[in-house]
Amino acid sequence: MLTANEIRDSFKSFFESKGHQIVPSAPMVIKDDPTLMFTNAGMNQFKDIILGNHPAKYKRVADSQKCLRVSGKHNDLEEVGHDTYHHTMFEMLGNWSFGDYFKKEAISWAWEYLVDVLKLDPKDLYATVFEGSPEEGLERDNEAASYWEQFLPKDHILNGNKHDNFWEMGDTGPCGPCSEIHVDSRSEEEKAKVPGSQLVNKDHPQVIEIWNLVFMQFNRKADGSLEGLPAKVIDTGMGFERLVRTLQGKTSNYDTDVFQPILKAIGDMTGATYGKNEQQDIAMRVIADHIRTIAFSITDGQLPSNAKAGYVIRRILRRAVRYGYTFLGQKQAFMYKLLPVLIENMGGAYPELNAQKELIAKVIKEEEDSFLRTLETGIRLLDKTMADAKAAGKTEISGKDAFTLYDTFGFPLDLTELILRENGMTADIKEFDAEMQQQKQRARNAAAVETGDWITLQEGTTEFVGYDYTEYETSILRYRQIKQKNQTLFQIVLDKTPFYAESGGQVGDTGVLVNEFETIEVIDTKKENNLPIHITKKLPEHLEAPFMACVDTDKRAACAANHSATHLLDAALREVLGDHVEQKGSLVTPDSLRFDFSHFQKVTDEEIRQVEHIVNAKIRANIPLKEYRNIPIEEAKELGAIALFGEKYGDRVRVIQFGSSIEFCGGTHVAATGNIGMMKIVSESSVAAGVRRIEAYTGARVEEMLDAFQDTMRDLKALFNNAPNLSGAIRKYIEENAGLKKQVEDFMKEKEAQLKEKLLQNIQEVNGTKVIKFCAAMIPADTVKNIAFQLRGEITENLFFVAGTVFEGKPMLTVMLSDNLVAGGLKAGNLVKEAAKLIQGGGGGQPHFATAGGKNPDGLNAAVDKVLELAGL
Ligand code: ATP
Ligand code: MG
Repeated sequence: MLTANEIRDSFKSFFESKGHQIVPSAPMVIKDDPTLMFTNAGMNQFKDIILGNHPAKYKRVADSQKCLRVSGKHNDLEEVGHDTYHHTMFEMLGNWSFGDYFKKEAISWAWEYLVDVLKLDPKDLYATVFEGSPEEGLERDNEAASYWEQFLPKDHILNGNKHDNFWEMGDTGPCGPCSEIHVDSRSEEEKAKVPGSQLVNKDHPQVIEIWNLVFMQFNRKADGSLEGLPAKVIDTGMGFERLVRTLQGKTSNYDTDVFQPILKAIGDMTGATYGKNEQQDIAMRVIADHIRTIAFSITDGQLPSNAKAGYVIRRILRRAVRYGYTFLGQKQAFMYKLLPVLIENMGGAYPELNAQKELIAKVIKEEEDSFLRTLETGIRLLDKTMADAKAAGKTEISGKDAFTLYDTFGFPLDLTELILRENGMTADIKEFDAEMQQQKQRARNAAAVETGDWITLQEGTTEFVGYDYTEYETSILRYRQIKQKNQTLFQIVLDKTPFYAESGGQVGDTGVLVNEFETIEVIDTKKENNLPIHITKKLPEHLEAPFMACVDTDKRAACAANHSATHLLDAALREVLGDHVEQKGSLVTPDSLRFDFSHFQKVTDEEIRQVEHIVNAKIRANIPLKEYRNIPIEEAKELGAIALFGEKYGDRVRVIQFGSSIEFCGGTHVAATGNIGMMKIVSESSVAAGVRRIEAYTGARVEEMLDAFQDTMRDLKALFNNAPNLSGAIRKYIEENAGLKKQVEDFMKEKEAQLKEKLLQNIQEVNGTKVIKFCAAMIPADTVKNIAFQLRGEITENLFFVAGTVFEGKPMLTVMLSDNLVAGGLKAGNLVKEAAKLIQGGGGGQPHFATAGGKNPDGLNAAVDKVLELAGL
């Protein structure tokens, strides 16, 4: 039996033998494509080639790509665990032709690989072809069908509709028919009862799709119409885990050597046995699947967080924790303990797992701990909601409440329902769904972008000249209009551009396009599928005329200083903290730089100083920039250049060196470090478990900051009569102040005692009640309260104390009663509440003690009298 690793290798060598270049998997987390968060198919990394933004380096390519299908168009999350053949993360084996071979070769090689090489039984195989679509004017894909007929009997070739058999990249762009290969792995007995052809594409767990061959031959325009694609593309994708399962004769992906070791570890840890109980099996599959996803996304640089891609990862982790919590009794963090098995299994093919194992474990454990706390809060809240509903005689909680639990407290609906069921209750699911719908609509409205067709003026691709120039003569290749949040913007593609497009953490350039007719402002430059796009608020009137493209050089220089300083900072951090420091994120703007890196404790003030001193010494040394442009990646590695995990690098790379700092980098930099001026770290904080963040300023911004410091110091010195030892003077002042405060307190205590004595001498007896009435100004609330409690301590029976006092212009009413008066029916709270109306105020308290503040001191005497009147005194 072939092992999973052998199967992966056999795919690659088969296509290598057919003239394909084998390329590495791109990172699973996508950073430079606004339309996609994660790689969800093998073709993603070739989008720029398919769209014609870049020429293909190889016309035939094959690989195994890490994919994640948990958001957007492909979202399998809810299936995962419940079925046995959808994963969140999986590997997709694929082969591509960019304008080279087409349907004939794609089909016959797929057949040759499955049947001749891997020895699958042809009678278990089915192929689907596109049935055609009259409204699009498309006929059945007879071409593909005719190739299949060379291998398969007609009853194994099935027609499929647009949904299953017509592939589209998006609302617009390349598209075309596809042909899927399905495998029937049922027992002979079952096959005899129902032919496999009836079960294809019917969600039968043993009759599943394994390979999809896409034939891109059209381009979909924004008006929905189709035009022919000049360079046709073959794009195939085969689920690796499904292939392994088929070849290993299993009926579930989880029974293969890809997942068995992890399931075993989960069983050992929780005491559950896989295959005994359906609920527990689902939970075990969910956990086995999700631990891979989370570990790989962390190594690819995407940590769990509360926004965007990070939030998707956080939700996946929480899903696993929740299944463990509910069905496997895991009340403590447990996922992180599965890492060693995962690394033992996949660390060979993916060394990044081992390299970052400490960080992965830290991050997962902290996420687990914090979610478990959330679960507890949610459970408490749900208990209260249930109690309230029960008290109101209901057995259903509102959908709104269930949604608040879900949305605000991260408490999933199925868990809410489970707990409700245990208590004989339900939730209004209809209302919950409606709330969910509304929220989705709000999100959709906020994110909606209408994108027009590209209008091409000239064919061609963009050449970036911004490393050498900040002004360059250029002309427009194409443009389109986009609408977002009621704003209309234009995207312009130039044939040559000095504008740096946002990437690698550095923001995009701004500037202008000018010629003798007009000046068009470029408000941002971004990359889409590797294409630099200039964003403007209006279109030039003379679209065909040449322009000078001019970058805002002040901003560019400030960005360059911050970017170069980031490299120096990275090197200094490694020097001071150690080699475990890895970049985890970076933001370079004209104003500041932000650098996230792995490190397990706070960076101390002392260390920060050291880092600053190292960086600033390098700045003063004025080390010249050494740029290696377009060198082979091996050469870069030999130089000792630092690469980032989860970054996609081509065969040729750019390397930036300032002395001992050597990094792979596409950003813009200063000519020599002296141009940075100076660097000052302004904050150090934590962004996630094991990840710290440093923010720093350079150049003029440091100068501004120092000016502000100096101004503050000057003010302080003036306030302290230019004392030579300023901190000494301030400390002395604080001590003196504390001494004075103490004196005032002592004085107040004395005054309190005197006041109390006076009041005791003025007790009026009314029908056996000892009434003490106290009206005075300039008495703080605390003093009145202290006196009231002392009196209550001394006069244990029949005390009726009422005070009307004013402090800092605000009137206050206080009532204190002995317990026997309370027992007799008086309530201090009610008395002050009613009487406080006379001072335009309100208040309350306990039956024996209550206070009320107000706005009108003139009504105070009347209020005190009112209290006595209400008490019948
Ligand atoms: P399905 O209908 O089974 O969800 P699909 O039509 O979404 O499959 P494609 O987008 O054509 O699949 O992807 C190509 C191949 O990738 C599929 O033939 C299948 O083998 C595999 N695949 C797709 N989704 C998953 C997944 N979630 N987990 C594992 N393998 C998958
Ligand atoms: Mg699918």
